[in-house]
Amino acid sequence: MAAAALILPAVPVTPPDYHRIISDRLRIPDDKSLPVPVGLLACQRQHSRDPLLREISTTVVSCNAHKKEQTQTSNKKKKSSATQEKLFEVILHDTVLFPEGGGQPSDIGLIRSASGEEYQVTEVKRRGGHAIHFVKPKHDQVVGLEVGSHVIAALGEDGYMRRLDHMCMHTSQHLLSALLETELNLPTLSWALTSYPTPSYVELTRSITLEEIAQIQAKAHRLAYEGRKVRVEVEPLDSENHPGVATLEGGRTVGKALPSDYTGGIKRTVIIDGVDKNPCCGTHLPSLHNLQLFILPQTESLARGNTNTSRLFFLCGPRLHAHLATSHALLTDVAGILSCGTPAVPARVSQVIEERRRVDKRAEELEFELARIVAEGLLGEMNNSGDPAFVKHYHRTDDSARALGFLQSIASAFITGSPAQAKYALVLTSSPVEKRSTSVTTVLALGSDDERTKTMGDALKTQLGVKGGGRGVRWSGKWIGVWREGKEGAIVEEILKTTQKTD
Ligand SMILES: [Zn+2]
Repeated sequence: MAAAALILPAVPVTPPDYHRIISDRLRIPDDKSLPVPVGLLACQRQHSRDPLLREISTTVVSCNAHKKEQTQTSNKKKKSSATQEKLFEVILHDTVLFPEGGGQPSDIGLIRSASGEEYQVTEVKRRGGHAIHFVKPKHDQVVGLEVGSHVIAALGEDGYMRRLDHMCMHTSQHLLSALLETELNLPTLSWALTSYPTPSYVELTRSITLEEIAQIQAKAHRLAYEGRKVRVEVEPLDSENHPGVATLEGGRTVGKALPSDYTGGIKRTVIIDGVDKNPCCGTHLPSLHNLQLFILPQTESLARGNTNTSRLFFLCGPRLHAHLATSHALLTDVAGILSCGTPAVPARVSQVIEERRRVDKRAEELEFELARIVAEGLLGEMNNSGDPAFVKHYHRTDDSARALGFLQSIASAFITGSPAQAKYALVLTSSPVEKRSTSVTTVLALGSDDERTKTMGDALKTQLGVKGGGRGVRWSGKWIGVWREGKEGAIVEEILKTTQKTD
């Protein structure tokens, strides 16, 4: 028998009991000249069978130019950008665009007038109990958004993707915080829905172990496979049922209280069946099916005053997919560079680092040996010169990462090998192979006595513009630019000759 075709809906279906008004005293206002309060907005009700109601036909309740704060017009540049950013504040009877709240950022979207003109909604904010849409005008006007006009408020493609991400992360946070509380007795102090695609986090009173993370992760997966339902209950908000906020022994509050300026009069509770019951104004998935919550197996410790807290990071939905794609691409690139399969990457990287360490050690030993040979050459020159005060400029072209260290090694070997009564003044310079205006030449001056070194250092500063300083018989500095033997080299020779003459 042929397998029966399984017909799945294009998107998960929101069950009819997703949103429940559990009080006789509460009705969704149908007077189109008044706004539905925040707490009962269409984006918070999701009364359609689409879990993400993408648009709604509604009417304009008010439309006014947004008055910008004066502080932004202090200079000409800011003035022009302020003009570009002229916005209108629009209140609609109802909306699918969620105003920021409960840790969830604002939606973006559009408002379409009856004649088809589309205006971008850059942000939605709650003021008192109302959702204010910040609308970008066209030619400084919002034609068709007059009070009483019929309009469509829509998320649009970008707004839909942004909201889907926010919903996945917000429902994940509720589940994660509930499991931390029930399984580990760990309250969530706060949480942050960070900007896409970075992981969001919950802040906890202590760091947690990898075993504890694995335990929470396994429980979260089990609940997701079971497809636990998520639903919302709303009732009028009054003094008896006002959600309080717990305080820890140290005085730190757990979670966020209802904002004191909220005047919508609605108490909204988000319930994950058998797992969690939490006052929240955010938008949530209708079930844990395919929640894909992934907890990053690491915590970040934070020290705040005399309390230590930690952040536990998590990903879900579109953010998790982006993370997997980026991580996989990075790992594949690294494996390609190392010419190995991806599972062999850690071992291969360790091997490369170990090889590098050995090579560095050998290079250091060879440099030390070479420094001694160079110093011996300079000492031989000094001994053969017969000059009462030996002067010498030694220049090398070298791409060493530790040019000064190498010049210091030459200087040390020279000091060790020179007779006690010898008088000398040396300038050692090292330039990179590539000649650019930003190239750095390392300069080291070495004198047989402090005075001689100081004279050289001062002259290198004033006559050549070397930036540096020194103590005792050594003076070191840096010179930036293209080093030419005929010019900069000649100045050094001149400085050394003057040093010799003053003897
Ligand atoms: Zn919430």
